[in-house]
Amino acid sequence: MRQLTYTGPNTIEWLDVPEPKLQGLNEALVRPTIVARCDVDPLIIVGRSPMPPPIALGHEFVADVVEVGKDVQSVRPGQSVIVPFQVSCGSCAYCAGGATASCNAIAARSAYGFGAYSGDFGGALSDLVRVPFADAMLLELPEGVTPEAIASADNVPDAWRSVGPFLSDGAKAPVLIVGGGAVSIGLYAAGIAVAMGSPQVDYIDTNRERLDLAQSFGATSIEGPPPERAGEYPITVDASANVDGLHCAINSTAPEGVCTSIGIYFGETTPLPLLAMYNRGITFKTGRVNARPALPHVLELIRDGRFKPEKLITKRLAWEEAAGEYASRAVKLIVKR
Ligand SMILES: [Zn+2]
Ligand SMILES: [Zn+2]
Repeated sequence: MRQLTYTGPNTIEWLDVPEPKLQGLNEALVRPTIVARCDVDPLIIVGRSPMPPPIALGHEFVADVVEVGKDVQSVRPGQSVIVPFQVSCGSCAYCAGGATASCNAIAARSAYGFGAYSGDFGGALSDLVRVPFADAMLLELPEGVTPEAIASADNVPDAWRSVGPFLSDGAKAPVLIVGGGAVSIGLYAAGIAVAMGSPQVDYIDTNRERLDLAQSFGATSIEGPPPERAGEYPITVDASANVDGLHCAINSTAPEGVCTSIGIYFGETTPLPLLAMYNRGITFKTGRVNARPALPHVLELIRDGRFKPEKLITKRLAWEEAAGEYASRAVKLIVKR
């Protein structure tokens, strides 16, 4: 089968590889039908990530079930499913506690779309993908949710975890998002915060297109580089992947508030203003999203019509165009079979 593969800096190509086969009774084979480009993929393609080539690309996707092992109960061939990018068993102590990114039934960081760094599970820009632990992993596409709405099945839950858990008890808390690095995650976070009832969602960025998209979600756009401090917010999000943005988010977090950094700081040690954090008693969160348990929360917001992630899709490609155009400039790019 053909698999879109990053083979070196600025080089992506279709490679012929053997089709995956079921390796256990609890597995499924799925055919990706729509793939969204994660915010980190452009960094991989230019060679700025620590993940070495070759990398079968694509890890945000909706797929059709093609074949299931005997023990699989929850899905059947022909169904359309959402595939979380991280492979997780659903029943180890970490998974049971919601920490599916740290599943210990399988090698650390097991996921699609990151090559050997994440266990070589292949990528979504392939004709077939093998899904271990299919009952724990796969979610049937709910009625009222289009594949385009939830195709970004990594970045959307990643945004949810940065604001959703802190707004879910009905807390009418203002939210600050410093955007620009993880471009779609910061914007999705703005949309989710508005959808969950935050009375004030402020979004900082330098890019006009993204500021307009934040506004279309109902956030207030603030144009310009992140200031040292933007105000005082119980909930702040650093999606800047930039030290100034990180410090702006932290310095703008209210006493006892929570700041979540979803940008990835590759490379050198990143300084944190620990004394300011100590004096205000803020909680700082970073780390990989636990995508599987977050997905039902975002699906509920989408199904209710409160949140429309598809607003961020600024480029749509046909499957055949992916090799030439997967690295194109876009807030959210999708590829449709
Ligand atoms: Zn991703
Ligand atoms: Zn597990």
